Amino acid sequence: MKKIMAIFAHPDDEGAIGGTLAQLAQDGHDLTLICTTRGEVGQISDPALATPETLGEVREQELRAACEILGVQHLEFLGYRDSGMEGTDENNDPRAWVQADPDEAKRKLIQVIRQYQPEIIITFEPYGWYGHPDHRITCTWVTEAFPMISDGSAYPDIDGAYQPEAFYYSAFKFSQFGGMIQKAIDEGYIPEDAFENFAPPEDVQIETEKSITHAIDVRATYKIQQEAQQVHKTQFGEDSPFNNIPDEMRLEFGSEDYYIQVYPEPDASLRENNLTTLF
Ligand SMILES: [Zn+2]
Repeated sequence: MKKIMAIFAHPDDEGAIGGTLAQLAQDGHDLTLICTTRGEVGQISDPALATPETLGEVREQELRAACEILGVQHLEFLGYRDSGMEGTDENNDPRAWVQADPDEAKRKLIQVIRQYQPEIIITFEPYGWYGHPDHRITCTWVTEAFPMISDGSAYPDIDGAYQPEAFYYSAFKFSQFGGMIQKAIDEGYIPEDAFENFAPPEDVQIETEKSITHAIDVRATYKIQQEAQQVHKTQFGEDSPFNNIPDEMRLEFGSEDYYIQVYPEPDASLRENNLTTLF
């Protein structure tokens, strides 16, 4: 049994690796999810579900329900505010995760990591999948905090310094994702502009895909991942384009979750011959 911790920014981010999490839970591992914000500035698919004032609270409950379905036993929030999409006013809110004092952000991360002592830590890759400022800053602070976890002289007032076994970034393969979107557009399932401005610049896509070290087959837990994703009702309402893509098409393009091993430093062969398990 391993202790595994995923560190993300918003309720529903965990869904991107929901297939992996469900698989790990079924195998008896102990899973913790850290969510740095409550997704306070996400969309509201149906005004009956939440108001801008209650959205954080509602999304917390959605995330609790999703964790139950996935088999994630522990959930912690760091208490920052959703920073919103790049270039919006919400970026400047002093409570926003992107505005967090770096020392305080790392202190909170070290605190929760030393408390749970996970052997495996997972967070976003540096581009944050599709460039969301909260995803990117999460990667930055977790990456900077990682070597401090074992360093007793870093945040010495926080007990429990230890060396985790492995650190991974979760990565998307946009070449595949883009293929799915194109097919779904071509076959009339989603409108042409449904995912405009979603994909990273091509050089980022190529660099990210080249760095992948692990490809985990998640077909066996696809149904659970989908069920858990659906409870994020404020984010994936009935008219969400995601809901219109048929299961077969998603599975054709999304049968694997991808990871980049950060620690221990992977050898080059791992980037060519991806492993199919995380440990
Ligand atoms: Zn997010």
